[in-house]
Amino acid sequence: MNASPEPSFRQSVDMMFTRAVALLDLPPGLEEKIRVCNATYTVRFGVRLRGQIQTFTGYRSVHSEHMEPVKGGIRYSLGVNQDEVEALAALMTYKCALVEAPFGGSKGGLCIDPRQYEEHELERITRRFAYELAKRDLINPSQNVPAPDMGTGEREMAWIADQYRRMNTTDINSQACVTGKPLNAGGIQGRVEATGRGVQYALQEFFRHPEDIAAANMTGTLDGKRVIVQGLGNVGYHAAQFLSTENGSIITGIIEHDGALVNPKGMNVDAVRAHILETHGVKGCSEGEYIANGPSVLENECDILIPAALEGVINLKNAGNVKAPLIIEAANGPITAGGDEILRKKGTVIIPDMYANAGGVTVSYFEWVKNLSHIRFGRMQRRQEEARHLLLVEELRRISSESGHATELSGDFISKYLHGAGELELVRSGLEDTMRSAYQAMREVWHGRDDVNDLRVAAYLVSIGRVASSYRAKGL
Ligand code: GLU
Repeated sequence: MNASPEPSFRQSVDMMFTRAVALLDLPPGLEEKIRVCNATYTVRFGVRLRGQIQTFTGYRSVHSEHMEPVKGGIRYSLGVNQDEVEALAALMTYKCALVEAPFGGSKGGLCIDPRQYEEHELERITRRFAYELAKRDLINPSQNVPAPDMGTGEREMAWIADQYRRMNTTDINSQACVTGKPLNAGGIQGRVEATGRGVQYALQEFFRHPEDIAAANMTGTLDGKRVIVQGLGNVGYHAAQFLSTENGSIITGIIEHDGALVNPKGMNVDAVRAHILETHGVKGCSEGEYIANGPSVLENECDILIPAALEGVINLKNAGNVKAPLIIEAANGPITAGGDEILRKKGTVIIPDMYANAGGVTVSYFEWVKNLSHIRFGRMQRRQEEARHLLLVEELRRISSESGHATELSGDFISKYLHGAGELELVRSGLEDTMRSAYQAMREVWHGRDDVNDLRVAAYLVSIGRVASSYRAKGL
């Protein structure tokens, strides 16, 4: 057992960075330039609520501006602090580089428990926070573009977008100041499911490579694999839902803040989600046996473990007991540097956060492009594509009837073939392509270099290399 104490989240990210960067031959000083966080802005503001002024503390951290705008979510949680926001901003830099989203890294947070406030109160708090950030260009379509994170969603993004627009009435690109907005306020189809969908695409890609499956001491496909998911929020819910309904995986464990549910036969994810939305917890849900000590279920037998909640949940204390041969980090930083070392020594394969949960920022990138182009994806091509396909189908029918062997095209084929892609299909196609290409880039390094033994270092090497070359191109 490692006797050193658990480092902070920021230190953990730094340690992982340092382990990777030692394998690169960067000019002196550049390594440090990439590692450090450029700036963190702290704001304290008062909002009059329930007859008195309440003071809130918020942060927006900019890790790297090698590309602008910088990008990253805004989190609402009582656990928000400078160390956490800076660690998350650094991860955004590496994440964007890895999936080739043309952004630097940023992150924001507000120290608040959103469940303690009414909707109209949250709106006033959010608008005030957005005002403070926007007036310093920490919200701006060409400089800094926030998005949802833990505790925030479409609703908060719509308020932020509207607040920015009120402050910048002549900015034709104002909608692009934030992503993750609702569809009717400039959002894009498929953004809500994007991070969970990305986790599914990442696993599908992993299971396409027999060599990688073998590295985790596994066999077969996603079909029938036992999955434990921690956190049934937006990311965990969509990942578990897609894996169980589309890939045949069995959800044998669901861990939430009030305990866990286990069922070796698998659970209906929608039913558990409905129970959580109704009762704010998993206790009493008939889908599985209730276990009061939720985190202990991280140590249960399974094939795939998906931590999709908080950072630091797999650490020096419990990593040694984790039995899953494959862990996919749907959350940011769920495994501490010490936990990571223990797991690597055991041979656990970890699909790292900066890749695994990059689906969110990837679709945010599509939304930002949509907002800047002021037109939804597919609007120009869809019917034209359908018309050309119809031409071909009619020609095939004509040839077949003239040849005397009247073979009919199946109705299923015709309806699928004639269907032109709409925005959702295009978004999913772009996301899948992104997740597959990024995985290829990581695995080439993982298998191609003798000094690289895990996917996390491989991911860091790819992203640091890309960030370094854009600094070089700037003459730094
Ligand atoms: N908050 C998400 C993340 O950690 C999404 C960021 C974004 O879409 O900009 O990746």
